[in-house]
Amino acid sequence: MEIKTIGVIGSGQMGAGIAQVCSLKGFAITVFDVNKDAVETGRIRLEKNMARDVEKGRLAALDRDNALTRISWTSDYESFANCDFVIEAATEDEDVKKSILRELCPVIQKHTLIASNTSSISITRLAAQTDRPGQFCGMHFMNPVPRMQLVELIRGIATDEPTYQIVRELTEKLGKTAVNAEDFPAFIVNRILLPMINEAVYTLYEGVGSVSAIDTAMKLGTNHPMGPLELADFIGLDTCLAVMHVLHEGLADTKYRPCPLLVKYVEAGWLGKKTSRGFYDYTGEEPVPTR
Ligand code: NAD
Repeated sequence: MEIKTIGVIGSGQMGAGIAQVCSLKGFAITVFDVNKDAVETGRIRLEKNMARDVEKGRLAALDRDNALTRISWTSDYESFANCDFVIEAATEDEDVKKSILRELCPVIQKHTLIASNTSSISITRLAAQTDRPGQFCGMHFMNPVPRMQLVELIRGIATDEPTYQIVRELTEKLGKTAVNAEDFPAFIVNRILLPMINEAVYTLYEGVGSVSAIDTAMKLGTNHPMGPLELADFIGLDTCLAVMHVLHEGLADTKYRPCPLLVKYVEAGWLGKKTSRGFYDYTGEEPVPTR
């Protein structure tokens, strides 16, 4: 089966990034979000990201213009009727993802494959909500999608081989490198990365260092391009907390307990860059540490 048309569910930072990369590779894309306002926010985000890439010389203006003509925007599931492949990239919440999958299945064609971009949730459990567990797998892009090379591919217990191979080929067509990860909580990257970020928040919570001391220490001391708190803000603190919950519950080990300070920030609605406040304040020219 050749994939020509792709549906993306969720037009947040990941959905917009996936739509950008797929449209630039010539696929026809339909991007869905919960309502017209969310769709509009997503469209503006994608156009801004592409404009920045053009400005910085990473993308030709003509390629951008052509790609934009291939993207359509919707808040109606019926628009997925012609998609060969649908990738779900909505909020990291198992109930949200399950209800999306239940609404999606009745409107798509029999041959249509589905993938989830979840950072942590069981692919087997998500697949079980669909009428096609064999045609379902995990396709975990990294953020920002246009610049990050890796895609983790995850088979659920029921994922069939042709589906996995088609998604692998699609990953290659998008110019990305696929790595296989088994269906364990948070797969490979986030199983390793999120406990480190959570530990950085504990380090802040316990007063071992300030935000800038922790980030500077990790950048200069371990050669990481971003400090862990800056990275947490970039990922989204709600997503970081959701992944820690999945690790904690899924692996039943107290070493994965989410730091209370991370919980508090999310409760306050301080979700990082996307809400202009997290461990840094992003309202001015330069990010300012908040602790
Ligand atoms: P985000 O908060 O930027 O965007 C989430 C989007 O989902 C929003 O536009 C929201 O309106 C939409 N949404 C919520 N409920 C919905 C529904 N019922 N139907 C359709 N859309 C709905 O989040 P994000 O960072 O783009 O993350 C999206 C997914 O990608 C999550 O599963 C996350 O774990 C995963 N992911 C995130 C990162 C990252 O660094 N942020 C990296 C890899 C994977």
